[in-house]
Amino acid sequence: MTYARICEILMDAGIENADFEAALMINFFCGKSRAEVLAFPDADYSDKKLFEAIDKRCERYPLQYIFGEWYFYGETYTVNENCLIPRPDTELLVEYAIKNLPHKARFADLCTGSGCIAVSTLVHRPDTTAVGLDLFPKTAELAVHNAERNGVSERFEAVCSDLLGENPFKENEFDAIISNPPYIRTSVVDTLEEELFSEPRAALDGGEDGLVFYKKILSDYTGSLKNEGFILFEIGYDQKKDIAELADFYGFGCEVQKDLSGNPRMTILKKKH
Ligand code: GLN
Repeated sequence: MTYARICEILMDAGIENADFEAALMINFFCGKSRAEVLAFPDADYSDKKLFEAIDKRCERYPLQYIFGEWYFYGETYTVNENCLIPRPDTELLVEYAIKNLPHKARFADLCTGSGCIAVSTLVHRPDTTAVGLDLFPKTAELAVHNAERNGVSERFEAVCSDLLGENPFKENEFDAIISNPPYIRTSVVDTLEEELFSEPRAALDGGEDGLVFYKKILSDYTGSLKNEGFILFEIGYDQKKDIAELADFYGFGCEVQKDLSGNPRMTILKKKH
């Protein structure tokens, strides 16, 4: 099958970036670079795994799960249906953490999923340690695997615990609390694009108002944050005001940063003195 034919099949199935994805698939399954693919348009790619992948992708199964790995910040992560697929927007949090964590900091990554936030931060800040919390044992195991895969397992531990339950951490344990919690309102979750249906609903659904996890972290986990520490939240594009109000209520100042599309995407919370 030629590159053009693969593009066509994907396009017919309504895949938005068909060209880009076709090249990625050929690269992944046949080891040919994008440059090679474009330079030899008549080349025939007939790999059974490639064909299976095309079929799955046409059913809107995410490319990231088909590959079983994906890229985030500078690292490669094992991903599967037990975790949310790491998104470029989330790199904002990692960038801030890398720049601003104090020397030898210890931080928490709440709802760690693939572990991408904690692990990429640890990779680029070899003086720090982290604990990632996740509700599901299989997800916590995946985060540990990703810490191993990226060479930071000695500085990472995973705790399997319900964020909405009891805070398992000590007082003043952390220099920072970082979290990309589920933040989509329950009523909106089912209206999202089809690809998202393959991702764990628990990683998306932020309760009726989309704020359940933020409220819980602010009410029950801030005792584990040192006085000078900071909280980083990834937020929904329309949640800036809600988070600023919540932060204020709990005695925190709130600064907002936008993502590459210009939407508010990250908040930085610091205790008011
Ligand atoms: N922390 C993980 C990520 O940013 C998972 C987030 C989640 O499951 N809501 O990708």
